[in-house]
Amino acid sequence: MLNSLNSLISQGIEILKKSGIESPRLDAELLFSHVLGLNRYDLYIKNIDPSLSDPRLRDEYFQLLKRRASGEPIAYLIGEKEFWSRSFKVGPGCLIPRPETELLIEVSLQFIEKTQALAPAILDLGTGSGCIAITLFLELSGIGIERARIYASDISEEALKIAQTNAKFHGAQKAIHFIRTNWLTAFKPRSFDLIVSNPPYISESDFELLAKDVRDYEPQLALLGGHDGLYYIKKTLEGASLLLKDRGALIMEIGYDQHEDIIRYLESAESLFSNIEIRKDLSGIERVVFLKK
Ligand code: GLN
Repeated sequence: MLNSLNSLISQGIEILKKSGIESPRLDAELLFSHVLGLNRYDLYIKNIDPSLSDPRLRDEYFQLLKRRASGEPIAYLIGEKEFWSRSFKVGPGCLIPRPETELLIEVSLQFIEKTQALAPAILDLGTGSGCIAITLFLELSGIGIERARIYASDISEEALKIAQTNAKFHGAQKAIHFIRTNWLTAFKPRSFDLIVSNPPYISESDFELLAKDVRDYEPQLALLGGHDGLYYIKKTLEGASLLLKDRGALIMEIGYDQHEDIIRYLESAESLFSNIEIRKDLSGIERVVFLKK
């Protein structure tokens, strides 16, 4: 039994290796367990029928391997991605959550805790899969801040559908208000204690350098920030301070080489922000700007 499991995984690894996939074993195991409807950790523990004796399952496994080999992201193939230790449904209509984005959660939670607001109003701008809004809701509830009013916006209807499915799955559908809007247009002044965002910030030249599975498969709408990558970042720096209440904060993810441009921009523009901090991610890259009004 185990032999045929190993043999199918090995065949998968070979197919993926040939196409230059970086983590062939992990991906083959993820696809194999996905076809069986199992968790990857259960593969070698549970008494499963590892030979995939049902030919349809076998076909499905090899189909998925083929798609992975041609570059489709593993998260889209299995339909989910982990963020802040929880699973989020994803599809080609939304960005796949990234581990570095967890820094936005960390900084946001620290900020909210410090304000001691019991019912903070929070906007997740460009919510995509909803991973930020939903994680904030769950974490804040976990520390007794159960009355946060959370808004999650996106221009993409497809993304909002995925976000709503995720909200339902995590029991957050009643707590989060989803809004379809073009960036900041739908919001009124002085509405929020916190605006948190992972905006599209890839420049045209960096877009060409992206890995194929990102460039060819993830929505450009979620990635591209105009020719220099700063279009949505500047729009947010201009607009967000008006939408924040006094002492509110904007916490935004930025690209690896953008923090100096942003500081220069804030110095030259008339900004209502009184304080700026830049936080580094685990790779030491300036990844998050934290601005207080
Ligand atoms: N907020 C979502 C995320 O961080 C989507 C971001 C985006 O589409 N740019 O994954």
